[in-house]
Amino acid sequence: MSDTEPPESAASSLRTPIVAVLGHVDHGKTSLLDKVRGSAVIEGEAGAITQHIGATAVPLDVISGIAGDLVDPDDFDLPGLLFIDTPGHHSFTTLRSRGGALADIAILVVDVNDGFQPQTEEAIEILAQSQTPFIVAANKVDTVPGWNAEENAPIQKSLERQSDRVRGDVDEKLYEIIGQLSDKGFSADMYWRVQDFQNNVGVVPVSAMTGEGVPDLLTVMMGLSQRYMKEEMAIDVSGPGVGTVLEVKEEKGFGSTIDVVLYDGVVEEDDTIVVGSSGDPIVTDVRALLKPRPLAEIRTESRFEKVDRLKAASGIKIAAPDLDRAMSGAPVRVVRDREIDEVVEEVQAELADIAVDAEEQ
Ligand code: GDP
Repeated sequence: MSDTEPPESAASSLRTPIVAVLGHVDHGKTSLLDKVRGSAVIEGEAGAITQHIGATAVPLDVISGIAGDLVDPDDFDLPGLLFIDTPGHHSFTTLRSRGGALADIAILVVDVNDGFQPQTEEAIEILAQSQTPFIVAANKVDTVPGWNAEENAPIQKSLERQSDRVRGDVDEKLYEIIGQLSDKGFSADMYWRVQDFQNNVGVVPVSAMTGEGVPDLLTVMMGLSQRYMKEEMAIDVSGPGVGTVLEVKEEKGFGSTIDVVLYDGVVEEDDTIVVGSSGDPIVTDVRALLKPRPLAEIRTESRFEKVDRLKAASGIKIAAPDLDRAMSGAPVRVVRDREIDEVVEEVQAELADIAVDAEEQ
């Protein structure tokens, strides 16, 4: 068993929800992801957050450390959150799993000063169509004139620190966003007033610059997943792996590789896999499973280290013959004890679904 694998207790049969970040250009998607990673690094002991290929895992204990009083870790049994590192709806729409979005949950980032912009509207349509639950991060609250910042504070505590005028200005901007959500058919409110997140969108005021509201954002995402997605997160921990190709890359020393987000089951070295391509699906054997080597260890060595096996949810690079024909967004399935033909048919059917979805968008 590799060091990336927690023991397979009952709790670890619940996988990490996959989170995507969407929103208009320059509204702060990248900064917000960086802040979440940065806060997690400060909070956790070294190695507590794990950098995956194309994704970052933030475990529950790190989230509860960042969230402080907002989270009681005993209330949760999901292992944390897996953030897809590439923000934006292009990656969101190309990353599909069986009949839906690869991401289980999304953060829609909206600049409080700019409100809804064309790409915000597009993102919201995509979220609605794929029925992906989301929350709105009303970003850049620190830019409201007169804002008195307190690094990484929970947002309600920060709001209490502001003058009446600043608070009034922030409220006005937030209510404008809530109005815009309602114009799109979503009933929304400040997250602390939302009781039923299944039918209402929670708005979390944040600053990707000062970290204010980041504790709240993580708490709400965790709460939402725990409450409404626990059943979907129950996976067969030893079942054959299922994932989606993020990217196809030539990698020195490894030949053709695919970066994959695994959302179900397990993949092991030497497993036979079936991968979608523009032609017939590729049937090949896993030569190496690679994850990023911790930064501190990268000198002359490879950027990657090998692992024997990996379970969902995770981001992994797979090296195998013939992968140069693989297609980003296509399904990957481990064959394990089944007939290869059966798995090839499944992959073909999934590819056909994806093609139909792409035409509809
Ligand atoms: P993206 O295009 O959505 O990924 O946006 P970026 O994360 O690249 O942010 C665009 C610009 O806004 C950058 O110059 C950021 O530094 C700035 N920015 C992002 N979030 C905040 C914030 O909360 N407060 C302030 N003051 N600036 C921010």
